[in-house]
Amino acid sequence: MRFLPVFLDLQAGPVLLVGAGDLARAKLRLLAAAGARIRWYATDGQHDVSGFAPADASRIELANDDPLTADLAGVIAVLCAGAGDVGPAMSARARAVGLPVNVMDDLAHSTFIFPAIVDRGDVVVAIGTGGSSPVVARRVRERIEAVLPARIGDLAGFIGRWRKTIHGRIPEFPLRRRFWERIVDGPIGALVLAGRPDQAEAALKDIADPSAFAGVQPLGKAEGRVTLVGAGPGDPDLLTVKALRALQDADIVFYDELVSPEVLDRARRDAARVAVGRRVGKPGIGQDAINALMIEAAQSGQRAVRLKGGDPFVFGRGGEEVEALRQAGVAYSIIPGITAGLGAAAQFEVPLTFRHEALRITFLTAHKARDAETVDWSTLTDEKMTVVVYMGMTAASSVRAGLLAAGRSPQTPVGVFARVTRPDAQAVVGRLDELPVLIDRIDGGPAILIIGDVVAHSAPWRDSNLHQLASYFQVAAE
Ligand code: SAH
Repeated sequence: MRFLPVFLDLQAGPVLLVGAGDLARAKLRLLAAAGARIRWYATDGQHDVSGFAPADASRIELANDDPLTADLAGVIAVLCAGAGDVGPAMSARARAVGLPVNVMDDLAHSTFIFPAIVDRGDVVVAIGTGGSSPVVARRVRERIEAVLPARIGDLAGFIGRWRKTIHGRIPEFPLRRRFWERIVDGPIGALVLAGRPDQAEAALKDIADPSAFAGVQPLGKAEGRVTLVGAGPGDPDLLTVKALRALQDADIVFYDELVSPEVLDRARRDAARVAVGRRVGKPGIGQDAINALMIEAAQSGQRAVRLKGGDPFVFGRGGEEVEALRQAGVAYSIIPGITAGLGAAAQFEVPLTFRHEALRITFLTAHKARDAETVDWSTLTDEKMTVVVYMGMTAASSVRAGLLAAGRSPQTPVGVFARVTRPDAQAVVGRLDELPVLIDRIDGGPAILIIGDVVAHSAPWRDSNLHQLASYFQVAAE
């Protein structure tokens, strides 16, 4: 992030606009609509404010002196739009006195840029792309426009009007926050969003005891809980809507080493973040200690999220954690995630089942050679079974030996899929016989193995065959 979004108080002073033509008029419109006071230096001498409502026009001061020598005292920002050579010169002046300046379409001379804006009254969303792509920013804006209730600004305004009163009646911050959450998520919020502010107002007045309404104890055992959340394999867009909500609601997040930083970024900004997973070469704090931490957090009234890579119940020890929570009498819930095998299948186009070809799927783990030895490979002989192996990198030789001994063909297609759904995802495909060699070509885990005929349908398989074909033709041509 190079540009930090901040909101400028337009009541604090005038904005200085330098420029002419349509570009300047577009900025005038934006500023006037936002309620700014504007001092306009028309660089072509044409101060045309026709078409502006009188109230807006009255806030536009038409300046005739030279902007390069004009008094900047009290000005809160400088904008240049359609200002030609005056733009860079004006930028130098503004920067010399520490004023924020924007020269339209000229990043080099700007210290701030304009975001795309979603304007719902008191609720304003600013979307930036670091100046690189206004089109992308507009697309993002459209999506946000689509999900935001039309009257969300009214809701913010409604709360704003009551804030002080409620602050006086509920001094404890956590309780006050819960009070507002219950208003926003409950029937009173719904009334405001439905355009019935008078009824909402009356309902809020009717709350005799705001603290009781907010949930009795300020930080009681009853309020604390743990949510086991599947973080998916890496791409934060693969979080479920529920997972996102839990993350946004969390007081504390206990996360595994497999959780990507981008996913962790989606947690509420002031939520505490605690790493509890194993790191390469380091053992981690251990399952009992993790359980104790979660229980303690919930019992002190916190909303804890236990964030686990993929799905919590697929080789994630989620079952053990649930048992510990249940024994401790802690409230919990479970939100599934996209497990690594499914992430790999989608990203690299491996249909895990296929009509007539693959009728069963087995998910198994073979962390160490020792684990691989305890797998009963004889149950995996079915050619129409796709085998997905978690934690199988180090035990790849044993996986290969086990499947071959069980009678699977050495020609069975296999894929090794690493860091799936992350920006540096990698796939290597080949035959079961050469599995250990394929693993060597992977530049680091985590990686998942998929074994079975369906791998021959995958995108990397199609690509590698194209290459082989291409080199065959090349050899033939030589
Ligand atoms: N609960 C997790 C699995 C945890 S076991 C899930 O449902 O995905 C850890 C193993 O998961 C790793 O050794 C690897 O085999 C697999 N894995 C997890 N994330 C992965 C990723 N982004 N890419 C490939 N494999 C991954």
